[in-house]
Amino acid sequence: MVVYCCAFNCKELFKKGGPVTFHSFPKDPERRKLWEVKIKRVNFKATQHSKICSKHFTPGSFDSTKFGGTWLKPDAVPQIAHSSTMAKSEKKRLHYLGDFDENDVNSPTKAQKLLQISKVEVLNCKQTIRKLRQEISA
Ligand SMILES: [Zn+2]
Repeated sequence: MVVYCCAFNCKELFKKGGPVTFHSFPKDPERRKLWEVKIKRVNFKATQHSKICSKHFTPGSFDSTKFGGTWLKPDAVPQIAHSSTMAKSEKKRLHYLGDFDENDVNSPTKAQKLLQISKVEVLNCKQTIRKLRQEISA
């Protein structure tokens, strides 16, 4: 049987020995309800086969003393808002190259951000150039 993560917008599949671990819903009805709400699926009812992958839990949700740190603490709650795609688009919206000027290079944190954004910008430009080149040669 293939085990999927049942969280909204997550396509994680269970792989034995993979980096992502899978976790069953709590047996406690109240906590189970909380999880059902947290995974942001409409009209979702968890069954005994429903699983959520470890991507939706903060590192602090795991008990590092049990099963090599893959055991969830009894009060752990999934967080779908931290899904990678959402975090990425939010970052892009917050900072642009134009948000910085030469003085920002003097601040280590700002300079680091500027470098990161510049790298992404260069990558984007390279991709655009490659695409345009392909269009020309086509
Ligand atoms: Zn997942």
